[in-house]
Amino acid sequence: MTPERRAHVEGLHQQVPVIDCHNDSLQAVLFGDVRYNPLRHRPAVPRRLWQEGNSGHWDFPRARQAGQTGQVTNLLVPWVKDGPHVESILKSYRQLQVDLAAAPEMALLATTAAEIEQAHAEGKVAVILGIEGAEGIAGDLDLLHVYHHLGVRSVGLTWMYRNEVAEGNWEDTGAGLSPFGRQAVQEMNQLKMLVDVAHSTEQTFWDTLETSSSPVICSHTSCRALVKDFHSHAPSRYFSDEQLKALAEKGGVIGIFFTANRELDDDDADVHDLARFIAHAADVAGAEHVGLGSDLDGGFPPHGLEDIRGLPNLTGALIDAGFSDEELLGILGGNWLRVFRKVWGG
Ligand SMILES: [Zn+2]
Repeated sequence: MTPERRAHVEGLHQQVPVIDCHNDSLQAVLFGDVRYNPLRHRPAVPRRLWQEGNSGHWDFPRARQAGQTGQVTNLLVPWVKDGPHVESILKSYRQLQVDLAAAPEMALLATTAAEIEQAHAEGKVAVILGIEGAEGIAGDLDLLHVYHHLGVRSVGLTWMYRNEVAEGNWEDTGAGLSPFGRQAVQEMNQLKMLVDVAHSTEQTFWDTLETSSSPVICSHTSCRALVKDFHSHAPSRYFSDEQLKALAEKGGVIGIFFTANRELDDDDADVHDLARFIAHAADVAGAEHVGLGSDLDGGFPPHGLEDIRGLPNLTGALIDAGFSDEELLGILGGNWLRVFRKVWGG
């Protein structure tokens, strides 16, 4: 990167809190980087978010080096279908408390847009809590209230499986949102929590847009029109152009995940290939409805983005793709901040 380009990128990262709407780092540190263990002949070693790791993709020190502020991280990814999900959420929450307490100079828990802006001004990481899969509410709306009280501000309706609320990509019978799921979406609206349709089936997606009185987000997906290999995913894991448009019309934002190499079935894919996915989403939905949804510590990022420290390379690739500074400030964080403020309130 030339010195001029580096100054341009750093300037953009200073003007707006850079926000990524999805990673699995809290789960990855709790259980060890099973999939990203650099020493495959040795067991995965749990790490801590306040320590700069040499495995995995994201922690507080590396995020700060990347010039990143806001990070939605998940208390739950229901990799095991039968749980225990509630216990996993509480244990992850406890671990985050420990890691935040160990490094108050590096990071804070953010539950408002103002706290994200405060973190940006202080050069800290703003951790925003999400749940990926409403298995975590165990069919009980009271748990939504408890999680909101703990600071959770975004709930993904499904991971891959069917749960009490809706159907995920691996278990799609066309049923969409259940009657209880409609109640859950309305309760999230009341609580001013973000409703996240990543991993939802198409019917779940359309039912949710019809049910929610607030903008709906998709924290991490990509553009089906460009995917060459779906691997183990169903096509509905990636948004059709029609879905990209509909989510934008509902006032939402679409996070594009950093896995272009998988979608293109190309191990050599790099940040410029990823920039093409972001450009397609922006062409279809409008640049003001697109954001970052990395899936770091859960996905497989492309060359140039081996961990979060490569984020400036992606910003450079987006400049190369022809985005204006105004569009980039939105994609890098302004769009998420706008929808967070709208849904969470003042
Ligand atoms: Zn996911």
